[in-house]
Amino acid sequence: MLFLVFAIGIYIIYSAYEIIEDGVKILLDHALESEQVAKIGEIISGHKEVTSYHWLKTRTDGSTNFIEFHMVLRPNMLLLEAHRIADEIEDKIMAINSRKRWIITPHFDPYDDEEMNEAIFNGTRVLPVEDKNG
Ligand SMILES: [Zn+2]
Repeated sequence: MLFLVFAIGIYIIYSAYEIIEDGVKILLDHALESEQVAKIGEIISGHKEVTSYHWLKTRTDGSTNFIEFHMVLRPNMLLLEAHRIADEIEDKIMAINSRKRWIITPHFDPYDDEEMNEAIFNGTRVLPVEDKNG
């Protein structure tokens, strides 16, 4: 009898922990697990028409995964082609877990501007000096 009470107690504590953990994750959104981030990176870089990618950012509130990234494409590519590539990549990313909702926002780069993106983000970008005479 004592064992049964003890077992039920443990079960209640375990259940409460799971509920609290899920609740905290919803309140404090966080990045996806590093394995999933790595997989998303492989999907993007694995597309034969993607030159490179950077600024992959992931967030999740537990039920919806938010993904954004910059992908470098041929500069003379039609927007139609770029959009098709994005759709193909988005489909593969969403297939990682079809039970989650995904909001995926790719950004198209005609060249690798990662350093400039970082400088803007960090506030270290040197803006062009305003021409007082012109
Ligand atoms: Zn970029």
